[in-house]
Amino acid sequence: MHGMDWGFDNTFARELDWLGAPIDPVPVAAPTLLTVNDSLALELGLDPHWLASTDGVAHLAGNAVPEGAQPRAQAYAGHQFGQFSPLLGDGRAHLLGEVVDAHGARRDLGLKGSGRTPFSRGGDGRAALGPVLRELIVSEAMHALGIPTTRVLAAVATGEQILRADGPTPGAVLTRVAASHLRVGTAELVRMRASDAQQLAFADYVRRRHHPQVAEGDHLGLIDAVVEAQAALIARWMSVGFIHGVMNTDNMTLSGETIDYGPCAFLEAHDPNAVFSSIDTMGRYRFGAQPSIAQWNLARYAETLLPLLAPDPSTESDLIEAATERIRAFETRFRGHWLRLHRGKLGLPDALSDSATAALTDDLLAIMIAERLDHTHTFRLLATVLRGADRAVADLVDDSVRWLDWQSRWLADITTDPQSTADAMDRVNPAYLARNHLVEEALAAAATGDLAPTEALLDVLRDPFTVRPGLDRYAAPAPASFTAAYVTF
Ligand code: AMP
Ligand code: MG
Ligand code: MG
Repeated sequence: MHGMDWGFDNTFARELDWLGAPIDPVPVAAPTLLTVNDSLALELGLDPHWLASTDGVAHLAGNAVPEGAQPRAQAYAGHQFGQFSPLLGDGRAHLLGEVVDAHGARRDLGLKGSGRTPFSRGGDGRAALGPVLRELIVSEAMHALGIPTTRVLAAVATGEQILRADGPTPGAVLTRVAASHLRVGTAELVRMRASDAQQLAFADYVRRRHHPQVAEGDHLGLIDAVVEAQAALIARWMSVGFIHGVMNTDNMTLSGETIDYGPCAFLEAHDPNAVFSSIDTMGRYRFGAQPSIAQWNLARYAETLLPLLAPDPSTESDLIEAATERIRAFETRFRGHWLRLHRGKLGLPDALSDSATAALTDDLLAIMIAERLDHTHTFRLLATVLRGADRAVADLVDDSVRWLDWQSRWLADITTDPQSTADAMDRVNPAYLARNHLVEEALAAAATGDLAPTEALLDVLRDPFTVRPGLDRYAAPAPASFTAAYVTF
């Protein structure tokens, strides 16, 4: 078997060996390639042709361990739907190791769906083809929208059937690339189980790997950095209508990347109450709750650092107050990012005040809710209004008086040339979205062995801002028959 130089350099295995269990992936019966992400492979210094070869696919399936990899399942804890679970960990994933990419950034490479681990509990350690391809499609869409996210390097079918609630289904393994897999839940486990020295080592590892601008030992600064990364991330989710679906603390990274695509979806009609997860019966993780849930999760993170902040009990209450202040600051940080993003989406000048920007945006979103307007389509149509199609949105709504009132207020705040403003808006408001009916259509074809619709959808989503001929169906909202009661999990 000829190999490939993966270039692994595994700092996690070297420095935080105690935070998980060394274990190899469990081989599968008959691995076949579904897809390799060529450009991501090249970015990582990996040969996409070798990855697609028989040898490569064996490695991507977990049937062979790459040279230099140190496979392990990471341990973590987490709050799931508000309840603390003291020991979760990778129950169906294996971290292989780290490579340094073409930009000098250190990235984790791991397999998901690669078999049971000491953390599997009742699970089978496997992943189904549908969710693997959903993660591929949605994460590529997020990346193309400029949103920090884990990526999918490759997906392989296992040739095995696995059992899920609705019967047997084909299994698949995906290769995930992440800035790291360290989560708020990882810190929660460290806080609970690790020695003082290990707690310090973990905090400093997170600082050096993800937030090196923070000074060594500045744990409040580290809270700030994680809060800032998440505030920036969640503002981006809100701006494109992304619903994560299961924002448990073990699904929130310390790097600020989106991770763990499960019952996720993009909104179509703008709706703060939108939920696409059948298990989220209380709507805890509904679209509009995401900023406050993120802040709640970050408070759990700050708590893990309190022992490092307060070695001397006499100052404890001051330090708790200081940490609380950092968590409160999520609101202003989030608001700043949200306003900046919406200023751009509306083509408004940088100089427009926060309160004026907020009023225009809030009023627009209120109309979208009342009229059940498509989030993505409506933002995109605003540019056509600037290009002279005065009634592009007015003709879609029931209350056109209310709309035209908003539109004239908005137009009065546009101070730059309408054509160049419209062009700039088109660079931030996507035309094409990973709409649920398109994703489902691709997954249904893949279940019959036809990957062509998945590849076609990926091609569209990898350049979501440029309208191309023949792609109208990728821009159109779901047919009304589809949207009712849709769940992704
Ligand atoms: P998730 O909902 O994907 O964030 O997973 C929550 C926890 O359940 C994590 O510890 C996963 O590793 C574990 N898990 C999810 N699916 C499986 C499975 N099929 N087999 C074993 N563990 C699983
Ligand atoms: Mg290399
Ligand atoms: Mg998870």
